[in-house]
Amino acid sequence: MTYVIALPCVDLKDRACIDECPVDCIYEGDRMLYIHPDECVDCGACEPVCPVEAIYYEDDVPDEWRDYYTANVEFFAEVGSPGGAAKTGVIAGDHPLVAALPPQATEHA
Ligand code: SF4
Ligand code: SF4
Repeated sequence: MTYVIALPCVDLKDRACIDECPVDCIYEGDRMLYIHPDECVDCGACEPVCPVEAIYYEDDVPDEWRDYYTANVEFFAEVGSPGGAAKTGVIAGDHPLVAALPPQATEHA
């Protein structure tokens, strides 16, 4: 099981969640962040700090954002399992679901 990042993170990326993750499994793409499904230890520390409620336990992802579970998983199909986002840095690109979105209005500049 894993936690999942959904639509509200797109074009916002305030990165508050990264500082909370004990295993550094939250990776940054061009337009949003993605949680590595195999590296996440389901601690839940990231979920309450997201200012836009973009993070959900996989069973609790709202129906409208169910595809983001797949997006988080598939994002790592090419990336693999680096074992830590700090050494990876920003990963160029996004899942096609995210890349196809029009620019999102963000609540934080
Ligand atoms: S649930 Fe825990 S391990 Fe998983 S991404 Fe969030 S902070 Fe990291
Ligand atoms: S805290 Fe929320 S909006 Fe900020 S990077 Fe993490 S998931 Fe995205």
